[in-house]
Amino acid sequence: MNYESKPNFLWELMTWPEVKAYLQQMDTVILPCGAIEQHGPHLPVDIDYFDAKYLAHQVALACADPKPLVLPAIPFGVSYHHEDFRGTISVTNDALSRFVYDIGMSLAKNGVKKIIILNGHGDNAPTLSYAAQMINRDAHIFVCVDTGETSDVDLYNLIETPNDIHAGEIETSTTLAIRPQMVQMDKAVDGTLSFGSKYLDYDSDRGVSWYVRTSKISESGILGNPTKATAEKGKIMWEHMIQHLVKFVETIKNTPLEDLYQSRY
Ligand SMILES: [Zn+2]
Repeated sequence: MNYESKPNFLWELMTWPEVKAYLQQMDTVILPCGAIEQHGPHLPVDIDYFDAKYLAHQVALACADPKPLVLPAIPFGVSYHHEDFRGTISVTNDALSRFVYDIGMSLAKNGVKKIIILNGHGDNAPTLSYAAQMINRDAHIFVCVDTGETSDVDLYNLIETPNDIHAGEIETSTTLAIRPQMVQMDKAVDGTLSFGSKYLDYDSDRGVSWYVRTSKISESGILGNPTKATAEKGKIMWEHMIQHLVKFVETIKNTPLEDLYQSRY
């Protein structure tokens, strides 16, 4: 993001009359949500927060005018499973869902009709879905959560590592592509996982949800294989993620709320 000019889609940089005027022509906002947690010995703890924020900005930039409004990113998430590694800061599921619910209800009072939550951290997903459901229940507006579903298939097709879910081939590639100075490749180690059942595989179509403390299955904190990461793969991954989300956001933006769910509201 270039901070010398004032991007016209960042909520926090607007005056209140500007927000009011913008909301007359645009009813869709993007809320990025991340985490501050260990990402192995080779990546900084901000990956999920930075990437969610970066993705939201890139998607808004690539959207047609009027662009969706982008909210300040939520830095902290549900990361208790990484607590055995220093640098991890975790909030409870209750605190995060309550926080997101309050933001959503406040957005609805502002006149926002559609909220797209861009989630950079897999383990926030159930909590954010719960908050989205409660905002929908109480404010009757559209709320959705994308935790990479719009591009997961394309990303897994680009990599060789199974169960590459944390600080591995994907996240190291995406960081090499946009912030190579943040990657200490000499400290990257192979943390490829294999489980006793295909139903436990994280990237399986038939996988079940299950929970484990990271230190039980990884000494380095890596779940995947960062040694296979390249900036080239990372660039293609960002292209997929941005393209698919732009397409999705444009559809949400351009569909009146009453039509989004077959006029159910
Ligand atoms: Zn991550």
